Amino acid sequence: MAKILVSSCLLGCAVRYNGSDVEVNSQDFNWLVDTQEIVPLCPEVSAGLPIPRAPAEICGGSGTEVLAGTARVIGSDREDLTDQFILGADLALRLCRDQDIKFAVLTENSPSCGSNFIYDGSFSGVKKKGIGIVAARLRESGVLVFSQHRVGRLRDLVEISRSI
Ligand code: SF4
Repeated sequence: MAKILVSSCLLGCAVRYNGSDVEVNSQDFNWLVDTQEIVPLCPEVSAGLPIPRAPAEICGGSGTEVLAGTARVIGSDREDLTDQFILGADLALRLCRDQDIKFAVLTENSPSCGSNFIYDGSFSGVKKKGIGIVAARLRESGVLVFSQHRVGRLRDLVEISRSI
């Protein structure tokens, strides 16, 4: 059994900006929650952001650039939320280090949790290839990050490592 950090909105917690969760229906996700040790976290709420809150997008790059200081996280109300989002990423990394967590399953498209796609910063519903701030922070520290759509790859890894 592996210890796995999971975005809490994937686990039925209504922590998204609009007070909703994210429904996931897949056999691989069922395998995840039924057989692995789950550590839930919403980095944005952990960083003190309220529910509900204004939607936020990364402007000028992706999570990697936010951590490098060359892009910002902006709310739809134009508030600069960069510091709070970086704090959420740092809290996620601290949790992984404290609990020796090497895998994470994070919510696709989120400016924090996205690992393949994020919104493009125009608040027009357009996505682009890119990584969120939490996913970037964890990956740069060696945590393997998967979206909820790619849990099958994580399952393969966990089952292979169990068999050797
Ligand atoms: S920060 Fe991550 S866990 Fe929290 S609501 Fe957004 S996608 Fe879900």
